[in-house]
Amino acid sequence: MQTSDYQRLDRAHHLHPFTDFKALGEEGSRIIERGEGVYIIDSEGNRILDGMAGLWCVNLGYGREELVEAATAQMRQLPYYNNFFKTTHPPAVKLAETLCRLAPPHINRVFFTGSGSEANDTVLRMVRRYWALKGQPEKQWVIGRENAYHGSTVAGLSLGGMAPMHEQGGPLVPKIAHVRQPWWFGEGRFGEGRSEGQDPETFGRECAAALEAKILELGEENVAAFIAEPVQGAGGAIIPPASYWPAVKAVLAKYDILLVADEVICGFGRLGEWFGSVHYGLEPDLMPIAKGLSSGYLPIGGVLVGDRVADTLIEEGGEFFHGFTYSGHPTCAAVAQRNLELMEAEGVVERVRDDLGPYLAQRWQALAKHPLVGEARSLGLIGALELIDPATGERFDKALAVGNLCRDLCFASGLVMRSVGDTMIISPPLVISHAEIDELVDKARAALDATL
Ligand code: PLP
Repeated sequence: MQTSDYQRLDRAHHLHPFTDFKALGEEGSRIIERGEGVYIIDSEGNRILDGMAGLWCVNLGYGREELVEAATAQMRQLPYYNNFFKTTHPPAVKLAETLCRLAPPHINRVFFTGSGSEANDTVLRMVRRYWALKGQPEKQWVIGRENAYHGSTVAGLSLGGMAPMHEQGGPLVPKIAHVRQPWWFGEGRFGEGRSEGQDPETFGRECAAALEAKILELGEENVAAFIAEPVQGAGGAIIPPASYWPAVKAVLAKYDILLVADEVICGFGRLGEWFGSVHYGLEPDLMPIAKGLSSGYLPIGGVLVGDRVADTLIEEGGEFFHGFTYSGHPTCAAVAQRNLELMEAEGVVERVRDDLGPYLAQRWQALAKHPLVGEARSLGLIGALELIDPATGERFDKALAVGNLCRDLCFASGLVMRSVGDTMIISPPLVISHAEIDELVDKARAALDATL
C-alpha cells in the first residue's frame, strides 16, 4: 500500500488518542514504518531523530533483537497465563524480584498492570484501602498537582490535573484535589500575581506551603496521599527548584500522608538513577511504573509497593478485589526482564548520570542564548525550552500556538520534539550518542531559527 492509501484508511476508520479527528482528516497522518536506534523512518523513507523516545518509553532505542528474541521465546513457551488466585509463572516472578532489587530498600513488592493509567487506578484503590485497614476510613482525599498527567482512565485523569481532560466526559472520581505545580518559569517568573516569590527557591517553598494549606483546608485527618512525578513530564518537563522536594517531604511527614511518586516517565534511568525518587532522595510509599520498564516494546506497568502499605494490605487486608487480565502478562514480563538485564549489563543508567546527561545539559544550555528561548533546562535525558517573544521578552499569547509551529518545523526537518503550549520538550532514548545529541540540538536550533 502507498502512503496515501494508509492515510485514506486511517481517516476513515482510526480514532487516534489525543487528536482532533476532524483536523486529522484534513492533514493526514505521517505513517511511521520502521525504527532503528534513535531514529524512526516514515513511509516516504525520511529518517527522523526521535527526541521523545516514542512517548517517553523507547529507552533502549528501536530494533533491539534481544527484546524480540525474549518475546518470541516466551510466546513459544507460554504466551499467556494469568496470576490470579494461586498461579503464577517464571517471567512474572523473575521480573518482580528484579524490580524489587533495583528499587529503594523499603520497597519489596510489586503489583503488575498493563499500563501506567492502570497503575494509578491501582494506587488510588490501594491508598484508600490502606487507611481503611488502619482504622481511618475517612482518609480518602488524594492531592495531586495542577497540569499533572497520571493517565487517561477515569481515576488516572482525576488524579491528573489537566483542565481540558477534566472538562470532557466527567464526572471525575470524588475526593481528589490539586495544588499548584512547581513550574518556576511559567508560574513564578512569569506568574500572574500567583507567586510572591522573587527566586526559584522561594517559589519552590511556596508550592510546598500550598500543599500544606490544602491539607489543612481538607482536614489532615481526611487526606490519604499526595501524588506527583519527581519531574513532571507531560506537563512540560518541569524540574522543580531544589527547595521543593525537601519542603514537600517535611509537610507529608508532619501530617502522616502517603507519598506516591509517579515514576512512569522518571523511572528506569531517565533522570540518571533507576528511579527519579532516588535522585531527589524521596522514599515514596508507592511508585507507579510503566513505559521504560519494557522500553515500550510491549505494554506493561505496575505499582512498586513500599513495606508500610504492603505489610498492611497483606497482613490485615485479606483478598484485594483488584487485578487485570494482563497483570504480569508473561510475554510482556519476559521482555521487561530482558530490557532491565540489558540496561544493567550496558550500564545505561550510570551512563545517563555521568556522561549523557551532563553532555546534553552543556549542549542544551547553549540554546538558552537563542532569542526565542527564555529558559533551557534539563536533567538526565529530559529537557525543555521555554519560548518567549524576542520583541517583548514576555511569553507569547497562547492563541498564537508558537510551540506547535516550532514542533511542526522540527518534525518536517527530521526531529521529534513535543510542545506543551510554548514549552518544547525532549526525552530521547537513553542510548543516544554524543553525535546524535549534537544532531538533536542542531536541528532544534534550526527549528527555532525557522520559527522566528
Ligand atoms: N503517569 C505518567 C507520569 C505518565 O506520563 C503517563 C503517560 O504518559 C501515565 C501515567 C499513563 O501511562 P499509560 O499511558 O501507560 O496508561
